[in-house]
Amino acid sequence: MRIAVLGGDGFCGWPTSLHLSNLGHEVHIVDNLSRRWIDTELGVQSLTPMDSIQERCRIWKQVSGNEIRFHLLDLAKEYQRLRLWLDEYRPDAIIHFAEQRAAPYSMKSDRHKVYTVDNNVSATHNLLTALVETGIDAHLVHLGTMGVYGYSTIGAPIPEGYLDVSVETDSGAKGMEILYPTRPGSVYHMTKSLDQILFQFYAQNDALRITDLHQGIVWGTHTDQTKRHEQLINRFDYDGDYGTVLNRFLIQAAIDYPLTVHGTGGQTRAFIHIQDTVRCIELALGDAPEKGERVKIFNQMTETHRVRDLAEMVARMTGAEIAFLPNPRKEAAENELIVKNDHFIDLGLNPIKLESGLLEEVVHVAKKYAHRVDRKHVPCVSAWTKDIAKRVVHDP
Ligand code: NAD
Repeated sequence: MRIAVLGGDGFCGWPTSLHLSNLGHEVHIVDNLSRRWIDTELGVQSLTPMDSIQERCRIWKQVSGNEIRFHLLDLAKEYQRLRLWLDEYRPDAIIHFAEQRAAPYSMKSDRHKVYTVDNNVSATHNLLTALVETGIDAHLVHLGTMGVYGYSTIGAPIPEGYLDVSVETDSGAKGMEILYPTRPGSVYHMTKSLDQILFQFYAQNDALRITDLHQGIVWGTHTDQTKRHEQLINRFDYDGDYGTVLNRFLIQAAIDYPLTVHGTGGQTRAFIHIQDTVRCIELALGDAPEKGERVKIFNQMTETHRVRDLAEMVARMTGAEIAFLPNPRKEAAENELIVKNDHFIDLGLNPIKLESGLLEEVVHVAKKYAHRVDRKHVPCVSAWTKDIAKRVVHDP
């Protein structure tokens, strides 16, 4: 297949591009490199040394013989170029990763809120309307997040996208199927909730074929392909805005920094290893919806953990200490999270579990590159409200 990977220079997009190229697909990366600019804005860098996207593609060609082409394009701001690009390349499938994806970054200031909404909602909508306009019947696979459910977790299993409800009417109870209600806990998660409505509309109105993957927090760095050459290494964000919780714990342990747990650490989150992410995308591509079918929604996660249990697991493996700090987020102190992930398991996913994969990450990645860490960027200080900002701790 000819596959466009939008956001293919990012943490999930790069290993996905390699994985699909390795399977023999013709891969085109489309990215505006905004994530690299945000590193510059924040004064941080990936823990792992990243080459330019052009250099990464050159090394991949050398290692595999396969070509990945890079196209510099802003999905949110360059609608006409996007439409022309689609018309010229006419992909069979499109994987859409190209959004601002950090909840703390989206809550940093009013400017960051505006940027996140403009970027994410426009990127998704521009893509959808350009597909309609060009008449391209590509299967669109979007990376959504389990985080859209935020406060709507009540301890009952979260289904894969849809909920059957029964509503009392004058003529008795009527059943209907609705999107499982979202209750986002950040501006970033709010944009992902809006994406769902855009997808529902374009699948119903224009028969676009769409799969929305509600992904858990991705951990790990390497996949089989990124390991093939030092210069193919994936990015690894450790800073307080972009570093996802487990990757932050790993780097904290590697540099003798206390593992920073917010509040009681009673928040339960869903997780998936990056190797399973790329495999899930391959599986989703092979299970495309028919024209006119509703949006397919899969929960792309493999296990759930409480944050304090994760910290204890990393502390046990490494001897690190744990520091409990005030929570910069506005969220429930404790929550249950039970998630159905039958679709991917039925399609043959055999997940990498935390207990078995974690040590390799600590030794081979976190410790190896610990000298590149700037300690002052490790704490999470982006607060959800102005009141909470007064309680945020900058140094544990
Ligand atoms: P990332 O920030 O590393 O990558 C996103 C890429 O998209 C970057 O290379 C960026 O430059 C590009 N991009 C952003 N806006 C763009 C635009 N307007 N035009 C063109 N390119 C643009 O993020 P990631 O961790 O790889 O996440 C990818 C997707 O997966 C995101 O949509 C995110 O919401 C979703 N997701 C990620 C995680 C996770 O733990 N990393 C968890 C759940 C869902």
